[in-house]
Amino acid sequence: PLAPSAALVASVKSAAARPELFDTAAIQQMDTAHYMHPFTDTKALGEQGARVMVRGEGIYVWDSQGKKVLDGMSGLWCVNVGYGRTSISEAVYRQMETLPFYNSFFNTTNLPAVQLATKLCEISPPQFKHVFFTGSGSEGNDTNLRMVRRYWDLLGYKERHTIISRHNAYHGSTVAGASLGGMSGMHEQGGLPIPGIVHIGQPNYLESGRGMTEQEFGIKAASWLEEKILEVGPEKVAAFIGEPVQGAGGVIIPPASYWPEIQRICDKYGVLLIADEVICGFGRLGKWFASELFGIKPDLITFAKGVTSGYVPLGGVLVGDRVADVLIEKGGDFNHGFTYSGHPVACAAALENIRIIEEEKLVERVANDTGPYLKQRFATLADHPLVGFADSCGFVAGLNLVRSKAAVVHDNVEFDPALAVGMICRGYMFNNGMIMRAVGDRMIIAPPLVMTRAQIDEMVALIRHCLDLTYADVK
Ligand code: PLP
Repeated sequence: PLAPSAALVASVKSAAARPELFDTAAIQQMDTAHYMHPFTDTKALGEQGARVMVRGEGIYVWDSQGKKVLDGMSGLWCVNVGYGRTSISEAVYRQMETLPFYNSFFNTTNLPAVQLATKLCEISPPQFKHVFFTGSGSEGNDTNLRMVRRYWDLLGYKERHTIISRHNAYHGSTVAGASLGGMSGMHEQGGLPIPGIVHIGQPNYLESGRGMTEQEFGIKAASWLEEKILEVGPEKVAAFIGEPVQGAGGVIIPPASYWPEIQRICDKYGVLLIADEVICGFGRLGKWFASELFGIKPDLITFAKGVTSGYVPLGGVLVGDRVADVLIEKGGDFNHGFTYSGHPVACAAALENIRIIEEEKLVERVANDTGPYLKQRFATLADHPLVGFADSCGFVAGLNLVRSKAAVVHDNVEFDPALAVGMICRGYMFNNGMIMRAVGDRMIIAPPLVMTRAQIDEMVALIRHCLDLTYADVK
């Protein structure tokens, strides 16, 4: 029964090896004519033409012209086990043949969803015994908002609806997700955030830590939460949400003092703690969930991306006992859910993906082997004349491009943002076989967790080469 899909895979692979079989210009024309891309200036893209990606294997992807690219971003922070995992395709195929869809509304369930919920509770911190499935991380955060408000309503605190988040956070692109997020560019479009969501500063030492040690700054940044709770009124604050390490905001790694202090403040005021682990979960920071790394005990964890390594869309919320007990014991119907909540095919993909992560010990490798090696190798880039600051945590890393360097990082001189040096650098990377993302002038990576030491060396050499090209251009 697997023959047709194997044949299809083989034909696409041979076509990728023979780029003359792809009419790239025609695909680009159709793309421009019909496809509105996410987070893209469609008109500008039309002038330049999108790069057409056709195949992936391990940590590499190939475009329609046969060019091989090292995917330093794991797609969009998600392809944790790398590309070309036949066992995931086979699990998906088998599930599609058996039961391609059934819903979990109306007192029905399906086997992969039950197995996955059980497995997620096994690998997550002990306070989690329940899972709510969604189709994406954004829907997961919408679910959080509904759940925490419902929780306080059920306890009789109907005023307790405000959620505190952070500037420059990313929590997705639905109305609630974008409101919880702290991206000014998103808030400007469509009158966001919605009421009942407020923001505090991010724990960005480079941006706001002048004159302090990192640890002093961590305590200071956490104190903004207490100030905001007192300003809003503790009786109105439902929850605080944060990414353990901010991803889309530019891989902002908080000082070690930050999260324990946030936990202390949440505990002091009874505020629920939501960890958005859409990026940080499933081994990316060397633990199944980064909350364990930072010593916090969240009440809810959002997950997506790495749960299936992006092979099939899936997201959800791990619901801690504090919230689950109230929702289940007192709640009756929870009037929330999605057609694809607990989609059997997505759950089958997730189960196989988690099996691979376990079998190949990817979490342990990132914690004890390749993660520390990446840290050491990535840090060597700090001697480059363009690099003002480089840091990493597990398998996320970032470096800042600066015009000139000083002894103290806060005295580095930045480029005029109008020069868009980050985008220039990203272009050199893109054209030289390396995917690295630019957030302003901060260049970031989140490579697949299967990356070997030799591939880390290859990646760091590629990055250095492209930094040289950028330097020659902008110095
Ligand atoms: N939360 C975080 C931390 C994310 O990084 C993302 C996506 O990048 C999301 C939520 C939204 O997930 P999705 O794009 O699956 O809706």
